[in-house]
Amino acid sequence: MSFFRYIKATLENFPKKHLIVILSGVALLSCLSILSELDLKVDDKKEEKNLKIPLNKKILINSEESSAEFFTRKEITIKRNDTLVSILKKMDVSSDNILTIINSKSSNLLSKIKIGEKISVTFNNENKVSFINYIKNFRSGVKAELKEGIYQISSYELGIEKERIYKSVTIKDSLYSEGLKEGIPDSVLMDLVYIYGWDIDFTHDIRPGDSYSLIYEEVLVNGLKKKDGDILIAEFINQGRKHVAIRYELKAGNSEYFSPEGKNVKKAFLRSPVKFSYISSRYNLKRRHPILHKIRAHTGVDYAANRGTPVIATGDGTVVFAAKKGGYGNLVEIKHSEDYSTRYAHLDSFHKRTKINQKIQQGQILGYVGSTGMATGPHLHYEFHVNKKHTDPLKVKFPNAKPINRSEKIDYINHASILIADLRNYQSFDALSKK
Ligand SMILES: [Zn+2]
Repeated sequence: MSFFRYIKATLENFPKKHLIVILSGVALLSCLSILSELDLKVDDKKEEKNLKIPLNKKILINSEESSAEFFTRKEITIKRNDTLVSILKKMDVSSDNILTIINSKSSNLLSKIKIGEKISVTFNNENKVSFINYIKNFRSGVKAELKEGIYQISSYELGIEKERIYKSVTIKDSLYSEGLKEGIPDSVLMDLVYIYGWDIDFTHDIRPGDSYSLIYEEVLVNGLKKKDGDILIAEFINQGRKHVAIRYELKAGNSEYFSPEGKNVKKAFLRSPVKFSYISSRYNLKRRHPILHKIRAHTGVDYAANRGTPVIATGDGTVVFAAKKGGYGNLVEIKHSEDYSTRYAHLDSFHKRTKINQKIQQGQILGYVGSTGMATGPHLHYEFHVNKKHTDPLKVKFPNAKPINRSEKIDYINHASILIADLRNYQSFDALSKK
């Protein structure tokens, strides 16, 4: 999961639940085009009625002089090699009009457009561009407004707020479906499964009566719900054992989850180097070899998967070998620390980053499943070495991922204790209200 992907709320001082739209003419349109492109999911039906304006349709605006004016709006997703000029041409904007726009002050703000982002253009009843909205992401962009014959171009940012939501669920049979019933969004449940996936096997370990509670954020743009944010703190009680995970933004900029004591919830290694596979042969020191037909120790685990399935590094480390090696075929070896290394064999091909001395992160693709070397069919042969000795990857107890480092520990403990207190408050309030 692309997990640590969010940003701090930088704009806290915007109005909260309601957006008041008391505008006329172009000012109204500027708002509408921003809002409509945001594809806002509005929970409040009343607000929805006020804000839902069909796209790419003629919109009737009553100007101050009460003479009705029609506007047309066109929208384009920026593709490779697009420029502002090529986009305006595609939208049938006249050359004169294009020239006026690009000669306007600050038009350079519109020259740095990116593939995949959107530009919408509004035309007035003279078929002249009256408004351009370049949406960089759901919370900022650049706008150009036609005012008295000139285009005024500026960047804008929308008001972002985060709201905290508390939920608590007792499991009867499924963490997921009962979470959904409680109104926890799908993405938040996925995050929960990810956070606890290192400690709890959700297919085998869950028992009726297990429970979890969490505080997560909801992101609001100009007071309206835009998306579900991150879990700030979660507590999972599995067979009587309590697991607390707290999100913390590290100085490096990324966020991770830690236990109240500062241990990383992640482990240094993933259990499996191939998704969508099954184990076709286990670690066995007395196995009869399928090609040699004699007893030969099988010093790794085989994962059968389709040829071309990505093989990922199970832990952070450095590539120390990436080439053909006898029966192993195409082999990658990653050194994770003085004590740990892993090997990935029979690869069909290597990923382009898989070169000697290259630093690799857990989960990055190293190569693709194949049957090079001594293999009967496409599979990954995976080995786990501890202190240079073969070890059964399915049985080895993995070390924890890096704990919070010393320089950040005091700040973390503060942060964690506030969140734990918040969670306890919510929990006791919840318990009271259920009585
Ligand atoms: Zn094998």
